Amino acid sequence: MAGKGKKQKKAKPKGYKGIWKTYEVKGDKLERKNKTCPKCGEGYKMAEHKDRLYCGKCGYTEFKKTKKE
Ligand SMILES: [Zn+2]
Repeated sequence: MAGKGKKQKKAKPKGYKGIWKTYEVKGDKLERKNKTCPKCGEGYKMAEHKDRLYCGKCGYTEFKKTKKE
């Protein structure tokens, strides 16, 4: 088989991160919405996906809990 059948990948637009979305203003203080990576430490936010959090630096993935504790 020839490796010519290249699958088309739908790439998500990059470069637009919307950093203001990682913070939420509550009253007069900022509340951090995104979780910090437990491996990389403070300052390394994890990207939020539908069902998981992902650290772009180390690749750490944390699945969101569906159940309420
Ligand atoms: Zn990390």
